[in-house]
Amino acid sequence: MNLKEDYHVHTNYNDHSDPNLTVKNVVEEAERKGLEIIALTEHVRESSKWISEYLNEISNYKEKSKVKLISGFEAKILSDGNIDCREEVAKDYFIIASFHTKYNDKSIWINALKKVIENKYVNVIGHLAPESSFHIHTEEIEEFAKLLSKHNKIVELNAKYKRPPEKWVKIFIKRGVKFHLGSDAHSLCEIGNYASITKLIKLFFKEN
Ligand SMILES: [Zn+2]
Ligand SMILES: [Zn+2]
Repeated sequence: MNLKEDYHVHTNYNDHSDPNLTVKNVVEEAERKGLEIIALTEHVRESSKWISEYLNEISNYKEKSKVKLISGFEAKILSDGNIDCREEVAKDYFIIASFHTKYNDKSIWINALKKVIENKYVNVIGHLAPESSFHIHTEEIEEFAKLLSKHNKIVELNAKYKRPPEKWVKIFIKRGVKFHLGSDAHSLCEIGNYASITKLIKLFFKEN
């Protein structure tokens, strides 16, 4: 858990971030804040047309930046457990898989989560939390923990949504699941800012 790392940063390649969230500004902001590693993880879809332009732009900064830059994407978990990202993209880049739709059916959600944990191209499960429409029991969280460890998936502590829930984090820590930090920045000031999740971060210094 390194506070100088941010594995979830958006850019203005999507249609809802600040227009000044250019790759250049993101890199400069990370340098200014003294961050060591950032992953640029733009929202991708199977149909996304901007991928090579985005990757080229990041590559240009990789040589000159003081911050280690990781080229990546945040892909939506689909209800069948696949991700909304072309395989040729997913296989070569850092992939966060996140739920971005509301689920009412618990079994569909659980099956999708299990399948995405087993997906060899996924590196990280983003802002993981249960839906408000159903309850996840302790034994089920334990089962996710086992699967996450087995498939070597990282769980993100997400500053934007303050997730996962504390109870989940405690169980995952106990089961040896790996974590890292993600601001989920959609504006420059949010990059590397974990003020919203100090309570979750403290769990690591207590129990590890
Ligand atoms: Zn997300
Ligand atoms: Zn995000």
